[in-house]
Amino acid sequence: MADFAPGGKFERESRTSHIHIINDEEVAAYLSHCTIPVDAQKVEFHDSFKYDIAYPDANTIDYFIAVDGEATTLPVNEGFPSSLVTFFQFGTLVIVSEDLDNVEKKPFVAAADIKKLKEIKRDKFVMPTKNVALKNDGVDFKTVVRTSIQDFFRKEHSGNTPLLETVFWLIFEKYRTDTVKQEYVLAHCPHCGTVDIVLEKDKMRLDYSWECTEPKCRKNIFLTDVFLLFVRMDNETGAEAIVGYLKNVIETFLLLHTMKSLLEIEDGLVNQFLLVKDGPLSFSGETSRIYRPVQKMISYLRAKNNINLVGVESSGPFVDHARQIRDKLKPGQAFLLNNKHIYTYILVGDPRTQQYGERTYYGGKLIYKSLDGRVYVLSMPVDNHVAYYNRPELADFANVQEVLFCIAKLRCDIYENALIPIAVINKLISLSTQSGTKILEKFAKKTVKK
Ligand SMILES: [Zn+2]
Repeated sequence: MADFAPGGKFERESRTSHIHIINDEEVAAYLSHCTIPVDAQKVEFHDSFKYDIAYPDANTIDYFIAVDGEATTLPVNEGFPSSLVTFFQFGTLVIVSEDLDNVEKKPFVAAADIKKLKEIKRDKFVMPTKNVALKNDGVDFKTVVRTSIQDFFRKEHSGNTPLLETVFWLIFEKYRTDTVKQEYVLAHCPHCGTVDIVLEKDKMRLDYSWECTEPKCRKNIFLTDVFLLFVRMDNETGAEAIVGYLKNVIETFLLLHTMKSLLEIEDGLVNQFLLVKDGPLSFSGETSRIYRPVQKMISYLRAKNNINLVGVESSGPFVDHARQIRDKLKPGQAFLLNNKHIYTYILVGDPRTQQYGERTYYGGKLIYKSLDGRVYVLSMPVDNHVAYYNRPELADFANVQEVLFCIAKLRCDIYENALIPIAVINKLISLSTQSGTKILEKFAKKTVKK
């Protein structure tokens, strides 16, 4: 049997339980009908998708901005474990490229080194997750959750505007200099379910909400309902299903918000920044539709600016695959991933009938092996990701040489696939259960109905 664990690091215990499971007759019979991704030895490369990366002569990127978040779901009260809240923490970190030159010579990022890097900005958010009502409210659970999300997006962030302003800017294409979109079609109303609700730009209220246009409903629709997270919430079973999606949406919008601020401060300023996102450049589940406005916005802005944005994956099948094939790439080489390669060697599927990332991605994926031999799974914005996954070309990415140069510079010795900013944020925001619980107790005392 193939060794699926990266580096062959099976724990003794899990190895034993694996043998037990494989020996079960019924399981063995089932497995005989299954196919799994193939061994590294059998992977065939399409050589035209391999590129030698020449590092740029001059650097235009002087700063790195990274965002990462964490979510912990806990019972509000030990005696009643079915009432849950989720505690989100997000960190935004700015690193000056020059400062990194001194830090990078050390094997670990120490607390003193972190101080040399710029202050981390933290955003916290508590989301009622199951069976929690707010005092003096009398509304259903879904409304409680939707309101808490809208309230988080209402808070001011960098540039002293709320995240809601960035959502508004994005969906009505306010970044355009020629024309602005007048309406956005919401797939359906969170209350009455009426489909294709037209949200008119000029009818939005000051609190970033609209009245449902269905005469029998007329209830409040929030700007943050464009993420369609309410589809996965239920008054009884709760909102646990949206935690991962919401975390990704907030991480993305914290970055887009910073990007928008940079664009507004000064022409060309954004070119000096590399924005680093933990995870791929995509939206999943119900939030996936938002990939389209994001892709449109980046494509438009790319004509005049360098939008240096990169998603970095630290786990999952693409990272497993990158480790498997690392010896097949030369240091300094990038391998662009197309549909056929993905569905033949990485994911289960048929490349003839499936289109990777069709309704979720705004970036193209690549594996990059840096000069010091580390492999990274990255995604960067492309104008047309369907075209990219059919026939990727290095020219689909903007400023790719410099971005990859920066990625190599951000290497982190603590975890192989992580980058320094992400590792630093992780370290700073990671919650001990104790401090999380304390904050939750405070929250529960203040706001939760007894
Ligand atoms: Zn309605």
